[in-house]
Amino acid sequence: MRALYGEIAKATSDAINFRNQGRQEDAVRIFRRDIENRFDAEFENILEAARRDEEEEVVRTELQAEALWRRLTWMTAALALAAVVLCFAAAFLLARSLMRPISLLTEGTEAISRGDLDHRIAFDGRDELGALARRFNEMATHQQDQRDRLLNAKAELEQQVAARTAELAAANQRLTELDRLRVQFLADISHELRTPLTALRGEAEIPLRHGSKPEAVYRDALERIVTQSLEMGRLVDDLVFLSRSETDTIRFEARRTDLVSIVADAVHEGEILGRAKGISIKAAYITRPVWVTADAQRLKQALVIILDNAIKYSPRDRSVNVNITVMDGHAEIAIRDKGLGIPAEEIPKVFERFYRGRSPRASRQLGSGLGLAIAKWLIEKHRGEIALTSEVGSFTEVVVRLPRADATASADANADAAVVVLKKRLRAKAGSE
Ligand code: ATP
Ligand code: MG
Repeated sequence: MRALYGEIAKATSDAINFRNQGRQEDAVRIFRRDIENRFDAEFENILEAARRDEEEEVVRTELQAEALWRRLTWMTAALALAAVVLCFAAAFLLARSLMRPISLLTEGTEAISRGDLDHRIAFDGRDELGALARRFNEMATHQQDQRDRLLNAKAELEQQVAARTAELAAANQRLTELDRLRVQFLADISHELRTPLTALRGEAEIPLRHGSKPEAVYRDALERIVTQSLEMGRLVDDLVFLSRSETDTIRFEARRTDLVSIVADAVHEGEILGRAKGISIKAAYITRPVWVTADAQRLKQALVIILDNAIKYSPRDRSVNVNITVMDGHAEIAIRDKGLGIPAEEIPKVFERFYRGRSPRASRQLGSGLGLAIAKWLIEKHRGEIALTSEVGSFTEVVVRLPRADATASADANADAAVVVLKKRLRAKAGSE
C-alpha cells in the first residue's frame, strides 16, 4: 500500500509538473492511467486484503484473548486453591501451637483440682502461654509447700493430741487404780482391825464367863490383851503412816548423814529384836563414813522393817548378815537371812500392802503385811531402790541401794570394799542400855 502511495504520489507530482509545463493532456493521461485507474483497480484490492487481514487479526486476537482468559482463570483458580490450602495449613499449625499448651494447662488445672500437687506443666515457650505455664508451675510449687507445711503441722498436732490422750488415759487409769486401791485399802483396814478386835474381845470374855476365876487366869488374859493391844497399836501406827504417805504429809528431814552410823543404829535395834529367838546380827561395815542425803530416823525405820522380817521369818538361833558395799555413785546395804525363804511366785507381791506369805509357817507369824510396803515407800523417798531375792528353805536377801552424797569424791570408794566388823560400836550401844 505504501508502494502504491509512493507511485500515486510520483504520478501526482508528474501530472502537476506536466500541467505546470502546460502539457495538460499528458497531465490528464498520467492522472487517468497512474492515479485514477490504479487507484480503482488496486486500492480496492488492497483495502479488501487489509480488511481481511484485519479480520484475521481480530479473530487471532480474540482467540489469543480467549486462551489468555482461560489461562488466567486457571491460574486464578490454582492460586485461590493454593491460598486456601496455605490458609488451612497455617491455621492448622497455629491451632496446633496453641492447642498443645492449652491442653497442657487444662491437664495441669485438672491435676491440681484432683489434689495432685506434684504435677508440673512441661511447656517452656517464650510467649504468653509459656509465661502462664511458668506461673502455673510456681503456683503449684507454692501450693505444694503450703500443703507439706500443713501436713507437718497436722501430723505434729495429731502426735500432740495422741500424746495428751495417752497422758489423760494414763492419768485416768491411775485415778481408777488409785480409787480401786483406796476401796481395797479401806476394806483391808476394816478386815485387819476386826480380826484383832474380835480376838481382844474373846480374851476378855472368856475369864468373865461362869463366875469368878483364880487371879492367874485374869493375869494371863490381861497379858494376852496387852500383847494384842500392842500389836493393834503397831497396826494402827502403820496405817496412819501409810495414809499420811499418800497425802505426802510425812515430815522428812533429809540432810547429809553417815550411812554407816544409820545402819549401825538399825542393826542395834535388830539385835534387841533378835534376842528372844537367839538370832544374832553379823554386821560388816566399812571403816570410813559413807555420806548420803537422808532422814536418819526414816531410813533406820526402813532397815528395821527388813531386819524385823529377817528375824521373824528365820528359825531360832540363826544369824542375819548385814553388809555395806560402796560403789561409784551409790551405796548398797544387803540384809540376808537363812530363814524360810519366799516362793518365787510370791516375790513380786511382797511389796504390796497387806500382802502376807501364803505358806503356813510364814502366816503363823504376827503381822499385817504392811512392813515392806512402808520400807519401799521410805527408800524411794530417799531416791533409792529396794530389791528382794529369795529361795525357799535357803535364804532371803533384801538389797537397798541409795545414791551417795559424796559420789564425786569416790576415787577411794572401791578400796573400801574390804569390810571390817565394827562390833565395838554395837557393844558400846548395847552397854549404854
Ligand atoms: P508386818 O511387817 O506388817 O508386820 P509382814 O511381815 O507379814 O507384816 P511384810 O513385812 O510386808 O509384812 O512382808 C510381806 C510378806 O513377805 C511376809 O508376810 C512374808 O511372807 C514375806 N517375807 C518378807 N520378808 C521375809 C523374809 N525375810 N523371809 C521370808 N519371808 C519374808
Ligand atoms: Mg514384816
